[in-house]
Amino acid sequence: MPRYEYRCRPCDVTFELNRPMAESSAPALCPDGHEDTVKLLSTVAVGGSASAPAPSGGGGGCCGGGCCG
Ligand SMILES: [Zn+2]
Repeated sequence: MPRYEYRCRPCDVTFELNRPMAESSAPALCPDGHEDTVKLLSTVAVGGSASAPAPSGGGGGCCGGGCCG
């Protein structure tokens, strides 16, 4: 069962709930019973990692130094 993270604004805390995906957008009560909660981005199933292309080269040339011009 997926786990969702919510934030209770009165308590100013975050808490997690395991609930069916169909209920992910249903109101979630905080442990203290507040209904004023917001759903945070899920921590569920975000496979993979970002891979940024590494800059390569760093080639020479003298144009950086003003010798070309
Ligand atoms: Zn609360």
